[in-house]
Amino acid sequence: MKQRKILLNESEIPEKWYNIVHDMPNKPLPPLHPGTKEPIGPEALAPLFPMELIKQEVTTDKWVEIPEEVRDIYKIWRPTPMFRAYGLEKVLDTPAKIYYKYEGVSPSGSHKPNTAVAQAYYNKMEGVKRITTETGAGQWGSALSFACQHFGIECEVYMVKISYHQKPYRKVMMNTWGAQVHASPTNLTEAGKKILAQDPDSPGSLGIAISEAVERAATDENTKYALGSVLNHVLMHQTVIGLEAIKQMEKAGDLPDIVVAPFGGGSNFAGISFPFLRLNLEEGKNIRCIASEPASCPKLTRGVFRYDFGDTVGMTPLLPMYTLGHNFVPAPIHAGGLRYHGAGVVVSQLLKDKLIEAIAHDQLECFEAGVAFARAEGIIPAPETNHAIATAIREAKRCKEEGKSETILIHLCGHGNFDLAAYENYLSGNLEKHEITSEEIEAALAQLDTPTIP
Ligand SMILES: *Cc1c(COP(=O)(O)O)cnc(C)c1O
Repeated sequence: MKQRKILLNESEIPEKWYNIVHDMPNKPLPPLHPGTKEPIGPEALAPLFPMELIKQEVTTDKWVEIPEEVRDIYKIWRPTPMFRAYGLEKVLDTPAKIYYKYEGVSPSGSHKPNTAVAQAYYNKMEGVKRITTETGAGQWGSALSFACQHFGIECEVYMVKISYHQKPYRKVMMNTWGAQVHASPTNLTEAGKKILAQDPDSPGSLGIAISEAVERAATDENTKYALGSVLNHVLMHQTVIGLEAIKQMEKAGDLPDIVVAPFGGGSNFAGISFPFLRLNLEEGKNIRCIASEPASCPKLTRGVFRYDFGDTVGMTPLLPMYTLGHNFVPAPIHAGGLRYHGAGVVVSQLLKDKLIEAIAHDQLECFEAGVAFARAEGIIPAPETNHAIATAIREAKRCKEEGKSETILIHLCGHGNFDLAAYENYLSGNLEKHEITSEEIEAALAQLDTPTIP
């Protein structure tokens, strides 16, 4: 009998997060002070984050214990299911075996609560009253709203203006969990005012929203800031996904040749792929881990590896990463969660060292893939997730051409039930192909005066 669904028991929720930094052949370069451009220590982050998260940000310990309270909340939706995509295999008529790990079963519909719950917990332990954050498509804002609500912490969300208007229901979701939501850029912060003075009609960007949320936290002692991607501790919290996935692949009697995930700042990609990369680094396995990014925001495939700010205004430490430049404002494509100029430090170093791969897809190819997936498998994926499906479909077609039966694992990191306006646009033929020109990329990079990396 065909087994479609590969499940784990509650007791198989991982007890530790995996920290890939321990196993990296080249450790990440240190962050630099935004003013002096000298390396900074963890204490520089103290105004923004609780100590325990700062410790996790810099630790090289291989495993970090997941607190019992966090595991207990994880039980609301973890372990998440894995499926064999028989329907998609059939439609593609491919000899490849396709699996997907589904994080859309979480309360907010994506992988984001895996770190939101952990971050809210450590803030609570250190007496923090309010957390500010930014959100693009609304996935992170809703995950953090849910997590803060659970621990009785106030949550203030700066939502990228274009998404605020494209996705009104995400805002309502955040409000339902008790959060306050602002359309960024706002007049509430100096950073927001500065942007609005230059461009009153700014659609906003993640970089701008981060500037606003960071400023709020830095100027109020009872308020801390939380980031939903990019940072080491965020990527580490997400490894529960891949750790479960390894057990599930074992149960299925298989091991992926390819693991593919969409890429915004790197958290869901890291979450599913780092535990598999450990098998490469430790056991000499040869699993290809592919990050799928939008052709309109291609930092991994067309950006540069150098120091850059995490935000637009230049308040965060300088991080060594693949970037399109902190002034880059991506086109308002529908995969809002992937519209970020930079990439996490750890993933950037791994790409530099050719331990992972990256590929870019145009949004039309992605929606075509997403609709094919929905028709074959039922679940309507988030627009971000469609990028990974597009990559998987290309790989499955290659397998067919080459007559190879490779195993492909897709990270189905979120559902698209709040993104139907984007699907409506696609289905009515109103979605445009969007690829950024080399001139646009060069113009954004030409503005960078941050330190280069030899
Ligand atoms: C936030 C989000 C992303 C992009 O962020 P990463 O940190 O790169 O994972 C991708 N997909 C979904 C569904 C998201 O919510």
